[in-house]
Amino acid sequence: MTKLPVSITQSKIQKAKPNPEELVFGRTFTDHMFVADYDEEIGWHDHRIVPYEPFELDPASIVFHYGQTVFEGLKAYASETDGKIRLFRPEQNMRRMNESCARLVMPQVDEKLALDALNQLLEIDKEWVPKAEGTSLYIRPFMIATESFLGVAPSKKYRFMIILSPVGSYYKEGIHPIKILVENNFVRAVAGGTGNAKTAGNYAAALKAQEVADQEGYSQVLWLDGVERKYVEEVGSMNIFFKINGEVVTPALNGSILEGITRKSILELLRYWNVPVTERKISMDEIKLANENGQLEEVFGTGTAAVISPVGELNWNGDKMIVNNGETGELSKKLYDTLTGIQTGKLEDPFGWVVQVKSDLTTHA
Ligand SMILES: *Cc1c(COP(=O)(O)O)cnc(C)c1O
Repeated sequence: MTKLPVSITQSKIQKAKPNPEELVFGRTFTDHMFVADYDEEIGWHDHRIVPYEPFELDPASIVFHYGQTVFEGLKAYASETDGKIRLFRPEQNMRRMNESCARLVMPQVDEKLALDALNQLLEIDKEWVPKAEGTSLYIRPFMIATESFLGVAPSKKYRFMIILSPVGSYYKEGIHPIKILVENNFVRAVAGGTGNAKTAGNYAAALKAQEVADQEGYSQVLWLDGVERKYVEEVGSMNIFFKINGEVVTPALNGSILEGITRKSILELLRYWNVPVTERKISMDEIKLANENGQLEEVFGTGTAAVISPVGELNWNGDKMIVNNGETGELSKKLYDTLTGIQTGKLEDPFGWVVQVKSDLTTHA
């Protein structure tokens, strides 16, 4: 494996590790971070692992004004059984980051070297991978445009960073269905826009609808297509699946939907199990009709954070569709157990999805 020359500055302090019971998403960060800088003339340089701390940027940095930035999200899992740390399809995240970069006119990173950097960072902060059931270390690679310039043009300078955050179990009281509000007014993305890139602007555009949904007691928004407000796209940070009369359907990738790695894995798993599954356009009218006919068997979201999130209620224009009596469906549960089992090394990995981090907890603790 290619080894990236990385300078390492050890943190002088070691922060106290949080109580795994009290971990909340995205609030705690480990002792170190990875940083590399890019310059048009010399490319990527100064690869380094340094203490996790704030850094300075010029107020005119392009990222602050025009949102030229991309990010990724994946997890490292520690196994209590064999002490190993595992990553789930990390090469897919690096590939997707480069695709997002291409859309935002940002430089490519060498995917193998980025993975090697991540490996080295995990080696240093391995004690931070929580071991309790359902917990993991969330990994956030991201790139920002750092040139100071108020003109609207692609930056000539960038910074690529990886930060790590231990996260608790998404389902503290066991897997349970969420309520979703179908959004008819606001739009997240349109084909030709940046919906299929993991870039900040998409999330800023989504905040208002999320606020309204929160106020009405719904945990997520289901986005419809931006042209006709007729076809289902995806949920906040999850892709969406429907089981209708024995067949699993999910919206086909259309340029405005983010291609989730969990989505892709679920499709592969379902095909492996010979469950009928189709990627196509799905209208809300079709969902409503299926629900009325008693054929809407299950609805679930898929994403790195929750893995599988069953949906118990869909509210479309005040019309409340209750799915599977508001309970977790059989297939949703089976997909959740299988995917989390593969990710944590409890189940066999017939697809070769899981990558072991070089370090392991037993030999280096
Ligand atoms: C990250 C993300 C997803 C899920 O992608 P995964 O790779 O499965 O985590 C889905 N939709 C949006 C908008 C996202 O940002």
